[in-house]
Order: sequence, then structure tokens, then C-alpha cells
Amino acid sequence: MPERLTRAEVPVEQTWNLADIFPTVEAWEAELAAVAGDIPTVTRYRGRLGDGAGVLLACLEALEKLQERFSRVASYASLSQSADGTSPANQAMAARAMSLGARIQSETSFIRSEILALPEGTVEGYLAREPGLARFSRFLDRILADRPYALSPETERALAALSEVLDAPAMIYRRSKSSDMTFEPVRDSRGNELPMAFAIYEGHYERSPDTVLRRNAFASFTKGLKAYQNTYAATWATEVRKNVIMARLRGYPSAIEMILHQQEVPAGVYHRLHDIILGELAPHMRRYVRLRRKVLGLDRILYCDIEAPLDPEFNPPTTFDRAAEIILKGLSVLGPEYTEIIASALQNRWIDWGDNIGKSTGAFCNSVYGVHPYILITWTNSLRDVLTLAHELGHAGHGVLSQRQHLLLNSRPSMFFIEAPSTLNSLLVADSILAETTDRRVRRWVIMQLLGIYYHNFVRHLIEGELQRRMYALAEKDEPITASVLSRVQAEILEEFWGGEVEIEDGARLTWMRQPHYYSGLYPYTYSAGLTIATEVARAIREEGEPAVKRWLEVLKAGGTRKPLELAEMAGVDMTRPEPIRAAVAYVGSLVDEVVSSF
Ligand SMILES: [Zn+2]
Repeated sequence: MPERLTRAEVPVEQTWNLADIFPTVEAWEAELAAVAGDIPTVTRYRGRLGDGAGVLLACLEALEKLQERFSRVASYASLSQSADGTSPANQAMAARAMSLGARIQSETSFIRSEILALPEGTVEGYLAREPGLARFSRFLDRILADRPYALSPETERALAALSEVLDAPAMIYRRSKSSDMTFEPVRDSRGNELPMAFAIYEGHYERSPDTVLRRNAFASFTKGLKAYQNTYAATWATEVRKNVIMARLRGYPSAIEMILHQQEVPAGVYHRLHDIILGELAPHMRRYVRLRRKVLGLDRILYCDIEAPLDPEFNPPTTFDRAAEIILKGLSVLGPEYTEIIASALQNRWIDWGDNIGKSTGAFCNSVYGVHPYILITWTNSLRDVLTLAHELGHAGHGVLSQRQHLLLNSRPSMFFIEAPSTLNSLLVADSILAETTDRRVRRWVIMQLLGIYYHNFVRHLIEGELQRRMYALAEKDEPITASVLSRVQAEILEEFWGGEVEIEDGARLTWMRQPHYYSGLYPYTYSAGLTIATEVARAIREEGEPAVKRWLEVLKAGGTRKPLELAEMAGVDMTRPEPIRAAVAYVGSLVDEVVSSF
């Protein structure tokens, strides 16, 4: 492994250019202070939102402006921190931005509570009288949708004051995982001792072709997890209990319904995604596992073997520049307006792709309002990176198209829709590589990468979703959630899905401890929603071409101005019906067929 560079040693063209947000740290400092000083531009309307449409409009305009400025301050700090978390200066910047964010949130929370407390019909009257408010109608509608569930202003104030405490389970989970949890070093098949950490397990060992290393690493991983099982069961249970109690206080039929209300998703859609995908995808995934057992020459497949590579020697090296060509070609089907954005991202240092000590692991995209999106990825020179970068560029393209048209307050759609544009781009780029190649091994490799994407979004995250669904069902009956209940139900779900094809070893029962997703509402299942939409849109683009592309660009431009099911509908996907889900499952089945027949 090459020596890792320090941040300062990374060639500048491999880094993102934060000067597009602020030219210097001093300029950032000055704006941080100025934003803090301008909080009264919003708070001066406190207690006055009932005075008339003009006052409400002035207040919302001030809020939008303050939020836009703050989002640039916060992004600059958090991006600096992601690029090098070991720098004390970056840590301090991130902490200061976060505390300003908390202050803005608490000082501007009166807007929501005052709007909710206005007599029924008032806001509607304002909207009719003041045309300037039209730009804020979606924002106002979303607040008003909560009216049936609002508590008295004093109670709302008390809950808002307690928000940090109510968010404690997530904080405790994250802090414990990053600071307290340790793992024993592991040995590979040659007897070498290797270091072990959460990120190394997820980034490397889990997909290692060395079965001894893969299994030893999983044993070390789950031993490390197990030491915290009672702590994390308590944080899990507290999070669930909080939502159950909150739903009862507010008068929702259940915690699930409360969270889905925030996502603007009907319960039927949520349940159907779990039922159909887990039920109908299982036979295809079991076939894929049987192939894995045969190709790897193992007499049994353990849970920790599910992601073992089937053709480990084949890993076509791909430079960043070559990746840029492949991606531009793959996304050219989306037309010039879209391709220009992607080209700009690739050429103008929107992307941080070098490696350095202290850089965040994984990949993400942060679209900075009024500037441009920033993407973090660590390039490992593999073709696999191409699909990851295409994914993040999907978030970037969405960010640019939606932010060009809309206020910051309206630009971000529901979590239900977030992963559709990103996964679509991976599918389109994969399609284009497949169309270009005549090499059977490349073709098989690309399809296996696609199956990896479907495994993650349709199986792993959805099994997490299923665990969450069953735990909420228990919690609604006031049954306790403990480590043994979580591990037992986790094992039941895995057994049901894999039907004996995969051996669910003891460590697999503890995999409920892996993910921070459980602390972000109903997050896990939304991956499958996004990918279902993307699969259908990719099919439409393949079959119809231009008209499907046109629809899709309109959807991206709509940003958060519509509910997620309306966005899907605009793209031609009716998520209230089982058909798109079944079509996506059938598509995965066809990919499995092709891989099975190619070995
Ligand atoms: Zn994503």
C-alpha cells in the first residue's frame, strides 16, 4: 500500500475548490459572524405573523436569505472537516458552524409554531391576497399539513427545547461507535496479522476474496459489536419508544404513520415495497448464492460470504480521467443541458478524489445552494469507482437543476425520492459500458456490479427496514425491545429471506448494530424506493428515448416542490401500484440469469 499523503501533499487537481464558496478562511469567519448578527432580520417578526400577509412574506424572505447564507457557511466548514478531520482548525470550524445552526434553528422555530397557531384559513387568505407568497406556498403547505397533529404552543415549545435530548440516541450511537468500539486484529490465509476497524471491514474485508480473512474479519467485527449489544439495544429501544410516544401524543395512528407523514408517503406504499421485494426477490438472490457457493468452491455460504467476489482477479484499472470519459458518454443520453453540468463537475474541481490522512471514508455529494455541488470520493483506480462516482453525480445533477429553479426552502424532495437520480445514473453508465463492450468478462463483471447495487438497496437495507417494521410493531404493543429480541428477530428475517441457502451464524444476528440509519426515521426502505423508480426510468429511457428523458429532466427540475409520489408519477412510475416493483424484481432476476449462465 502506498504511503498516505497529508492533505497539503495532495495534488491540487485531485481536490475540490472550496474557494468557490469563500475565497479564504477569513472570509468564512466574517460571514459566520455576519450571519449570526443577522438572525434578528428574521426574529424581529416574532409574535407578528398574524399581523398580515405582508409581514409573513417579509419574514419568509428574510428566513430564505438567512438559510441560504448559513448553508454556505455550514457547507464550507463541514466540507473542510470531511477533507481532513484530523485538523484541529477544521474541527473547530465545524463545531462553530454547528452551534450557529442550532441557534438559528431554535431562534427561527417560532415561524412554524406561529403559523400552526393561526386560526384556520388565515394562511389560505394570505396566499390569496399576497401574490409574493406563492413562492412559499409549498413550504407553508407542508407546515399546515402538520396542523391536525400540533400540540399546544407551550407543549411545542417544551418539545423544541428538549430536541437535543430527544436526539440523544443517535448521538450516543455515533459517538460510541467512532470512539469507544475497538476490534481485534485479524489474520489472513497466509497467517499475516492485519489491522481491523469498522471502516476497513466495510470497505475491504467484507468483499475480500480470501475466505479465511473474510470470515476471521467478520468474527472480529461481530465480537467488537457484541461488547456493545446492550448499550445499542438501549439506544435503539429509546429511539423507537420516543417515536411511539410522540405519535401517541400528537394523535397519529402509529409511529410508522407519523414518520411516513413527514416523508409524504402513504403507508400502503411503504408496506408494499417490503412485502414484494423481500418476498419475490428472495428466490433470485438464493440462486445467486448457489452460484457463489459453486464458483467459490465452498461447501456452505455463511452470512459473511454473501459479498465475496466471484471474479476477484478481474478488476480493470480505471483512472479518474478515463472514468470521466465513460461517465460523460453514459450520461449523454440525458441531453446537453444535463451533460454540461456533469462536465462542469468533472472539470472544475467540484470533486475531491485524492486520498489523504484524515479524509472521510465512503462517498457523498453536498449541493451548496448558490454555488455548486461538491462530491467526496477516494479514487482507487478501479472500474467500481466509476459507478460510485456516477451515483454521486446523480445527486449533483439533481442539486443543480432543482436549485437553479427553486428557493432553498423548496429545493430538496422527500427522502423517498432522494436516491432515484443517483441510482439512475449508475444504471445508465452501466448500460452504456455494456453496450460498448464485446468482452464477455467485462460484461459479466458489470452485471455483477449491478447486482451488488441491487443487493445493497433491495436486500441489505430492506432487511434493515423489515427489522425496523417489526420492532415498531412490537413497540406499539408496548413490548420491550432488548438485545435478545433484536438479535432473534434479525435472525428470523435473515432465515426467511435466505431460506437455508445462507447459514446465519451467530455474528449475523448482531448485524442490527451496524447501521446509523435506524436513528433517521424510516430511512432504510427509501433506498429500495429510489432504486425501483430508477429501474423503471432507465427502462423507459432505453425503450422510449427522448420523451422519457424529457419527463425525467422535468422531474429533476421540480426539486422538492412536489410530493415524492407525484415526482415518480411525472417520471411515468406509479408507485401506488405493485407493477413497477415487480418489474424491478424481474429485471434483477434477468441479471442473475445472465450471470449464472456465464460461469
Ligand atoms: Zn446516494
